[in-house]
Amino acid sequence: MNPAKVLTLLSLTVVLGVSGTACAQKTSPANDARPAGAPGNGPALSVRLKPYSDGRNSVSHLDVTTVLTSLGVKKGQKLVTMPLRRASTPTVADGSGKDWLTARDEAGELPLEIQDAGESEFDRDRSWMATRDTQGKITVSYRAAPRALTAESKGGPEYGLQAENGGITGAGAGLLALPESSDTSYAISLTWDLSAMPPNSRGVWTYNAGDATTTGTVDKLADAYYAAGDVKEMRSGANGGFTFYYLSEITSFDLRGLTDFTAKLYDHASTFFRDKPGQVYSVFARQVPYRGLSGTALSRSFAFSFKNDTKLDDAELKQHLAHEMVHNWPRLDESQDDDGGWFTEGIANYYADVLPYRAGLIGYEPFVGQINSNLSQYYSNRYRESPRAEILEMTWKDQAAQRAPYHRGYVYLFRVDSQIKTASAGKRSLDDVVLELLRRSENHEKVDANTWLTLVSKEIGDLAQQEYRDMINGKLLIPLNEFVAKTHRVDKYRGTVEGLGERDFYRLVKK
Ligand SMILES: [Zn+2]
Repeated sequence: MNPAKVLTLLSLTVVLGVSGTACAQKTSPANDARPAGAPGNGPALSVRLKPYSDGRNSVSHLDVTTVLTSLGVKKGQKLVTMPLRRASTPTVADGSGKDWLTARDEAGELPLEIQDAGESEFDRDRSWMATRDTQGKITVSYRAAPRALTAESKGGPEYGLQAENGGITGAGAGLLALPESSDTSYAISLTWDLSAMPPNSRGVWTYNAGDATTTGTVDKLADAYYAAGDVKEMRSGANGGFTFYYLSEITSFDLRGLTDFTAKLYDHASTFFRDKPGQVYSVFARQVPYRGLSGTALSRSFAFSFKNDTKLDDAELKQHLAHEMVHNWPRLDESQDDDGGWFTEGIANYYADVLPYRAGLIGYEPFVGQINSNLSQYYSNRYRESPRAEILEMTWKDQAAQRAPYHRGYVYLFRVDSQIKTASAGKRSLDDVVLELLRRSENHEKVDANTWLTLVSKEIGDLAQQEYRDMINGKLLIPLNEFVAKTHRVDKYRGTVEGLGERDFYRLVKK
């Protein structure tokens, strides 16, 4: 996997808490289980998931059967691919043997060869190659086992398959072997076989409960969450498109309150980022035996993990969920000029503060408090003046380096917003640039760091390049408070940075 891809994966994950480890179309429900494909002429992909209860309130495994129609694969070409590890989390293919995944087509058994790519413990992919030209419909089968988790398990991105309270949850990327990602659109069907589960069981994925037919690229299946068992749900929001799914009763936070907050935020964000009508959004809660709060965002959904034995801080949890939700919208394409999360994580932190305030979900003082919290985390990070290359090198060795882009990006974006407001006498803001990026992205135009710089240059001229270079090179950024200038000013003070000693810090204080 190329380094840019690795960066994107890291960027979709947020780390919170002292011991915590953690942080990338609506379908209509179908009542029939007919395989996708007929009567269309394009390729079709039908996935059947069959979880097995072990009879002791747990799921022992899940059988995956995928049928590929109108997909001729030549000898030596890749049939299906999936990660062995995704963002350091083992998938169901990790440690699997040579004959774990099998395939048949209309000529009988289809022998496969394995090809692995990517050396790192962080991300490694496996492909299964056809050893002859395929004929007709191809069926791929394998058995997936959930990860064994203990109090000592390392937390991390929600890519693993996990058994919980008689049910199971997982991300497509960690569960499904699929044709290689491409622009090819498939007729997709998803069916749940719950015959080996207790009678009250059901299967859901990001887009709906029960079986589904839809169209999309393989990424639609890979970038979704799945859950089966006695899956409980809480719905909220004006458009009814928001669902919170969970498998175990939750006592560590106010589920109703959090669902209402997240649903209102979703309604606001969905409108602000100009979603097409009828879109859905789902949240999957996972209880884990280890400490720490983590979350991972996929398309139109995110999952978060927590230990249910202690009360979670309400404000921290809301900020965390808001951050994950924002990931659904503004992103830059991967490119060689990608900057290790400054945009993806910076913009998620930025709108995780701004949108709840605009939506009336948090007050003005708590809002300014959250800005100051981001500022404080930026100035107290020992990588605060390190160039990008050094931070990237240390990202998976030091949590402070992994966190650095979140707050550096935040302060940089905060400054750019102020600069645009000043240049336009308050008529324009960061919002205009972000919405234009999204519009281009929707039109399948390339949207990368260069696009960003071009758009910002239109607003503030040459200052855009200078500001960007400063951010990349590690020049200390000081907030420009056009944002809250009527009520607050920037205050300089001395603070302590671990490993560096006393340094200048900046915050917003009341005028
Ligand atoms: Zn994030």
